Amino acid sequence: MTLTCVSCGKSFPVDSRRHICSCGEPLELDLVTGKVKEGSSSWRRYRDLLPFKPDQKLTMGEGDTPLIKAEALSDTLDINFHLKNETVNPTWSFKDRGTILSVHHAQDLGVSKIGTVSTGNMATSVSAYGARIDSEVWVLVPDDISRKKLDQIEIYDPEIIGVSGDYGELFYRAHELSRTCTSIYFTNSNSPFRIEGYKTVAFELVEEMIPDFVMIPTSSGGLFRGIAKAFLEMERSGMIGHIPTLVAVQAEGCSPIVRTFRKGKKEIKRWEEPDTLAEAIANPYPPGGNEVLRKLKVLDGIAMSVPEERIIEGRKDIAREGISCQPASSIAVEAVKILRNKDVIEENSTVISVLTGSGTRSYTEGESSDMISVDLSEL
Ligand SMILES: *Cc1c(COP(=O)(O)O)cnc(C)c1O
Ligand SMILES: [Zn+2]
Repeated sequence: MTLTCVSCGKSFPVDSRRHICSCGEPLELDLVTGKVKEGSSSWRRYRDLLPFKPDQKLTMGEGDTPLIKAEALSDTLDINFHLKNETVNPTWSFKDRGTILSVHHAQDLGVSKIGTVSTGNMATSVSAYGARIDSEVWVLVPDDISRKKLDQIEIYDPEIIGVSGDYGELFYRAHELSRTCTSIYFTNSNSPFRIEGYKTVAFELVEEMIPDFVMIPTSSGGLFRGIAKAFLEMERSGMIGHIPTLVAVQAEGCSPIVRTFRKGKKEIKRWEEPDTLAEAIANPYPPGGNEVLRKLKVLDGIAMSVPEERIIEGRKDIAREGISCQPASSIAVEAVKILRNKDVIEENSTVISVLTGSGTRSYTEGESSDMISVDLSEL
C-alpha cells in the first residue's frame, strides 16, 4: 500500500499522517481489485477492497444502511427511485464510515490525539469515535456554528475551537497544524483512509441494484471520491459491467465545483461568499474539488446545483417518504426532479440519492412551526 497524489503521482509511505501532496492535491491509496467474501457487514464482505477491517472495539454498526424505495416520488417522476438512508449511522451521517477507518489508522500509527475540521457532522463523528478509545479530540469549527450542532458535539467532550473565517481556509490551516503538531492525527474530508471507508456506500448499493444514476451531495469532495473509487475498483474486479452516471450535487449558494465544471475548466476557484441553507456542504474551496472534476470527466458524470428555494421543498418531499434529512441531503432529491424534467433522467430509469445526514440536527432558517398550543383543559 502506498499513498499516491491524484494529480502529480508523487508517492508517500502509507504510515505517514499526510493527506495532501506538496502540490496541494489529495493523496489516495492505489486502486485495488478483489472478490466479495462472506460476512455480515460490508467491512467483512469487501475486505479484499479495503485497506483493513476496522477494529472491533471501534465499531458501532456504521454502514450497512437501508436502501428505501421512494414510493411517492417514483410515482410522480415515473422512475424507480431509491434513497440510501445514511441518517441511521451511529452519529447520523455517512461520515462514520470514514471516521472509523481514520481513527483505526491513527491508532496503528500510535498517535493518541485526533483532530478534524468541521461544520458539524464531521466533528460529531470524530468526537464520538475518539471518545470510544478515550483519545483527546480537537475540533476546529466555524464560530457561527448553530447551537443544535454544538450540542451534539459537546456531549462527547472534545476540545472545541471556534474559528472565524471561512471553512475552506480552516481546512488548509488544519493541514499546516497537522504538519507542525506531530502528536495530532488530523482526519479531514479528503483524508485517504476516510475515502476508503466511504467506498462501502457504493459496495452496498451494488449488492441491491446497479442504478442508472447516483446522486451525491458534494462539498469537499470526499464522499464523491469514495463512491467513484469503489465503482472503478468493482469494474476492474469484474463485479460490475458498467459504472452508473455519478452526479455531484451542490447548493446554488455555494457551488464552486459546479461553476468550474460548467466552464469546462480544471481548477476550482474559491467561492467568494457562500450563502446556503445547506451548511453541511458549504465548503467554498473544496480540497478534493479538482479531483472530483477529473473523475467526472473520466466517468462522464454530471455536476449540477440546486436553487436555494428548492431545498426546503426537497426536505418535505423526503419527509413524506418517512425520512427527516438535512438540507444538504435534500438537494440530492431536488436534483433528480431537475434532471427528470430535462429528460436527462429518462422514464423508468433507476436512480439512487444518497441521504447523507439526518435532519435532527439541521437548523433551517425561516421555517415556522405549525404547532397549535392548547391548554389541557381545552382538549
Ligand atoms: C460531509 C457531508 C456532505 C459532503 O461530503 P464531502 O465529502 O465533504 O463532499 C454531504 N452531506 C452531509 C450531510 C455531510 O455531512
Ligand atoms: Zn502532487
